[in-house]
Amino acid sequence: MVSRVIPVEIFDLVIFGATGDLARRKILPGLYRRYLSGQIPSGSRIIGAARSAMDGAGFRAQVAEAIEEFVAADKRQPGPIAEFLAMLDYVAIDASGEAGWSELKGLVRPGLIRAFYFSVAPSLFGEIAERLHLHGIADAQSRIVVEKPFGRDLATARALNATLASHFSESQIYRIDHYLGKETVQNLMAVRFANILFEPLWNSQFIDHVQITVAETVGVEGRGAYYDKSGAMRDMVQNHLMQLLCLIAMEPPYHFDPDAVRDEKLKVIRALQPVELTDVVRGQYVGSKGEGGYLEDSENPDSRTESYVALKVHLANWRWKGTPFYLRTGKRLRARTSEIAITFKEPPHSIFDDAPGWRENVLVIRLQPNEGMNLKVMIKEPGPGGMRLTQVPLDMSFATVLGAEGADMPDAYERLIMDVIRGNQTLFMRGDEVEAAWAWVDPLIKGWEARGDRPARYEAGSSGPEDALMLMHRDGRRWREISE
Ligand code: NAP
Repeated sequence: MVSRVIPVEIFDLVIFGATGDLARRKILPGLYRRYLSGQIPSGSRIIGAARSAMDGAGFRAQVAEAIEEFVAADKRQPGPIAEFLAMLDYVAIDASGEAGWSELKGLVRPGLIRAFYFSVAPSLFGEIAERLHLHGIADAQSRIVVEKPFGRDLATARALNATLASHFSESQIYRIDHYLGKETVQNLMAVRFANILFEPLWNSQFIDHVQITVAETVGVEGRGAYYDKSGAMRDMVQNHLMQLLCLIAMEPPYHFDPDAVRDEKLKVIRALQPVELTDVVRGQYVGSKGEGGYLEDSENPDSRTESYVALKVHLANWRWKGTPFYLRTGKRLRARTSEIAITFKEPPHSIFDDAPGWRENVLVIRLQPNEGMNLKVMIKEPGPGGMRLTQVPLDMSFATVLGAEGADMPDAYERLIMDVIRGNQTLFMRGDEVEAAWAWVDPLIKGWEARGDRPARYEAGSSGPEDALMLMHRDGRRWREISE
């Protein structure tokens, strides 16, 4: 299969926070890979900006190291690396001060696509937007890319939206949720809306329940102070898991157009029912086998922040009335995996006497690792001995079916940055979506804060707290195994 790499137009991209972890690990190595693939024209320019005093040569040396560390050996080709580094420049800027802005103004070129990536602490998003405007660096065609977290509740998200809106129109603002840049997430839309097969069954008449799991093996070590003020609900559910839920539950948009897709996602968020506290399980990992628990990792012995959350969610609309969505995410779980499992209802009547107790069809969409899809279907057990049934997987790994191209899919950040340059907002969250998500999450967080109870304990390396198992058991269902 031949992949089509369509070059973008020449652009100037300014990365605020270019010396930080995200820029070093993801953004800059990703841009190099896009250059190597032929997607970035060589006349483009990437300007790093941060407070550290450094010249262009110093920045290029840092980026060369990042490429060495974070780009696969077979892609580290000296010629293209040198060409890519030649596209880079650096300006020392304090986002909260006045120095450096006029120098930046002199570096961006008129008439070209201009994008500004805010890869800095969220407290600086507003200040940067203001100063870009104040110093006349952003024009009406400029785009800004805003990292997560976008607020920590409805009030802060609204305030940030208002600040950005006073300098940029909504069509210029790209709020990143890198989950939306994953190949399989976009495939969700392709599977649903480019096939006739699933959509007629995609409702509460035929779907028993949906499970969305985002499990991590890492803990919060290294970013404990930040995480302790956030927790799994704010850090993962409000954005990533809700976006996945939206793509599963939304109505077909009239066209694959940014606002048409985002309108449908917004309707899903607005249809979310308030969650009963009895339908939420919060957990906190405890150490095992010599490794520290959450309280040590966060350096807060009294912390009540959840490193795990599981919840049952209902949508109040015609399509989904009666089908629960179970969401769970956590740190220090037994395997790193992200998947969506759609469990269909059993056939209404079995014509086979020797059926092994009817087993339902399950469609699993794997986001990581090994992106792909798996559909469990019933077949006849091979061989003589009558009509015995068994369940087998129709398993498709994208890397296998798409060959080398499948194994070489662009990372989520690469794809999203190229979308910014192309001016395509489909995979970015709109301001009203973010606010609606916070409006749903806020009362839930306030509810458990008012109750003041501690999260349930779960052992690091386990599948999460016992109570989470009960959340499904009491409905006569069970979670899928967390495994790679
Ligand atoms: P980081 O490692 O702490 O880097 C912060 C960057 O901001 C550095 O380049 C720093 O450089 C610069 N900076 C700090 N204060 C500044 C100021 N006053 N003016 C200009 N530049 C300033 O943070 P990060 O992990 O890269 O995260 C960046 C953003 O991405 C955050 O919003 C984070 O929530 C989000 N994010 C990160 C990840 C990740 O994996 N790291 C994942 C998802 C989202 P100087 O000190 O030289 O100024």
